[in-house]
Amino acid sequence: MNMNVRALGPVRPLPREAKPDRAEVEAAVRTLIRWSGDDPLREGLLETPARVTRALEEAFAGYAQDPAAILQKSFDETEGYDEMVVLRDIRFESHCEHHMSPIRGHAWVAYVPDGRVVGISKLARVVEAYAKRLQIQEKLTAQIANTVNEVLKPRGVGVVLKATHHCMTTRGVHKPGTDLVTSRMLGCFRDNQELRRELLQMTA
Ligand SMILES: [Zn+2]
Repeated sequence: MNMNVRALGPVRPLPREAKPDRAEVEAAVRTLIRWSGDDPLREGLLETPARVTRALEEAFAGYAQDPAAILQKSFDETEGYDEMVVLRDIRFESHCEHHMSPIRGHAWVAYVPDGRVVGISKLARVVEAYAKRLQIQEKLTAQIANTVNEVLKPRGVGVVLKATHHCMTTRGVHKPGTDLVTSRMLGCFRDNQELRRELLQMTA
């Protein structure tokens, strides 16, 4: 099996009948509390399963979003604008798929339009739609770049992500202060050294 193709493929949401309901998730949280050694029925913990379930709902809201659809509405009245467009420093929060622990970082999404541009908030929403899923940073980076490339069909796309992984900084090897930098360059960003350098300088 080709792992790369598998890893980068679209994430299909589970069929509705396979998705547990809220009561099941709250029961699972009560199990975790019991397993930790505490009593889910004591007063301080009574509302905890409901709160955790709401937090999970927010953390994984991206599964309900279609990133390609977000970019569908684009504009072509650009007067021939063909320079780099960069949305800088987009804050994102994700969760690592190996430990379900937080990944926090910033994204830079750049493209050189070929006649069509999108509203800038749309680029941030694409980052959000993929970040609010279980992720590894490499895949998140590739998914953002690939989607902008496929939907907008620009001359090139460059995506840079810098993030800290709680599974690295607070457990296991305990390396606080480290961050992981990933990038994906397509089209003119891959071919043109100058353009790529310009983008990478912005992220330094
Ligand atoms: Zn992890």
